[in-house]
Amino acid sequence: MNHLDIAHLDIGIAGCGPAGLACALLLHRGGHRVTLYEQFDEPRPIGSGLMIQPTGLAVLDRLGLAARTIAAGSRVERLLGLNENGKMVLDARYAELSAPGTFGIGIHRAQLFDLLYGAVLAAGITVRTQSQVARCTLDREKRILHFADGTASAPHDLVIDALGLHSPLAEATGRVLDYGALWATLDWPDSGPFDPHRLEQRYRAARQMVGVLPLGHGKLAFFWSIKAQDLPAWQASGLDEWKHKVLALWPECACLLEQISDADQLTFARYAHRTVPHPVSTRMVQIGDAWHSASPQLGQGANMALLDAWALSEGLRLGTTLPDALRQYHALRADHVKLYQFLTDWLTPLYQSDAALPAAVRDRLLAPVSRIWPVTRIQSALVAGLFGAPLPLLGLDVPDYGKHTITHLP
Ligand SMILES: Cc1cc2nc3c(=O)[nH]c(=O)nc-3n(C[C@H](O)[C@H](O)[C@H](O)COP(=O)(O)OP(=O)(O)OC[C@H]3O[C@@H](n4cnc5c(N)ncnc54)[C@H](O)[C@@H]3O)c2cc1C
Repeated sequence: MNHLDIAHLDIGIAGCGPAGLACALLLHRGGHRVTLYEQFDEPRPIGSGLMIQPTGLAVLDRLGLAARTIAAGSRVERLLGLNENGKMVLDARYAELSAPGTFGIGIHRAQLFDLLYGAVLAAGITVRTQSQVARCTLDREKRILHFADGTASAPHDLVIDALGLHSPLAEATGRVLDYGALWATLDWPDSGPFDPHRLEQRYRAARQMVGVLPLGHGKLAFFWSIKAQDLPAWQASGLDEWKHKVLALWPECACLLEQISDADQLTFARYAHRTVPHPVSTRMVQIGDAWHSASPQLGQGANMALLDAWALSEGLRLGTTLPDALRQYHALRADHVKLYQFLTDWLTPLYQSDAALPAAVRDRLLAPVSRIWPVTRIQSALVAGLFGAPLPLLGLDVPDYGKHTITHLP
């Protein structure tokens, strides 16, 4: 281990999601030799939209991708949620944050993926596709990835597990949540009540939720909360019955529902709440969803993945030995991860639950309190991923949104 040149490692990164791609770019720039492995024939993102918060944009900024990310998505200034009685129960505004001009970015996964993957290809980083990772072994101080087709990777000094929620390399832990959501990418309607700078939701207690996330470029992500066990019944009952329920909760969605003529347009995403207790082992480390995943209620997963990638590159830059570098990575992220895992676990039932109590607490207690300063600011910091001040520890700043927004793109 002592003779290992920590500044020039041979690194295998498993997974081409936001965590793996960002990590590959940062470590390649840091002077390491990087190989990415991905199960798909062609790496591709799955799913609809997500929110890039100031935390994630801080990392994309260091990658030189902030202006392009802003241009590829929609500026989201406010999160607004109304209950079935039309009472406002969630109102989080980025304008409340101490950093002026900050906003969230609603973006289609494919847009974010294209930006990162394009940069990976432009950097000349090797990507081995059709490589479905099954396990990873340690052999004479080298890590080797073994694939489902029986082949294996070259030996690496370090393997980074960025395989996401179902990583076969991570310790099995946590629990699958009862509730998930149906997602569809739809066209932004020509007319209608929707605000292109607002993520908006409607709730019936915490049993039903419908939401609209603007993605920019004439698109939006539409989502409907549903329990996994209710999916077969939803499929059997047909679209009309479901549309009736959506319209009863949010009648203005009629112009969106017109675009859905086939159940296949909706993808069911199931969530899991898990935190791998030991994300660092000998010459292997978990980042992103492979380390921690939660319901997307707070919209932090991709942002946390980007912060992990940055922290690992910092750990490798600052560490004196590989174990020291990995220890530093863990220390840089552990508290923020723990805090958001706890908060997401606590907040999710307020929006997705069969029980009446969480929604009552949300509507009657939390909603009025959340309108009082400084709770307004704390709530906005929570949504922006900035609660717990994760950036200074990582040597990152909230990006200068004004500069990036006026940048003329090539
Ligand atoms: C419906 C939904 C909405 C969400 N909304 C938000 C949001 O608004 N904001 C936000 O920040 N986050 C959101 N998230 C969470 C976010 O998508 C994840 O946290 C983020 O994608 C994690 O990135 P990752 O790179 O760690 O993992 P992933 O994005 O899961 O990437 C893992 C990669 O590894 C590959 N892979 C997996 N297994 C193997 C294998 N065995 N062999 C080889 N390759 C493999 C996959 O193909 C994929 O390319 C949402 C998630 C869901 C499901």
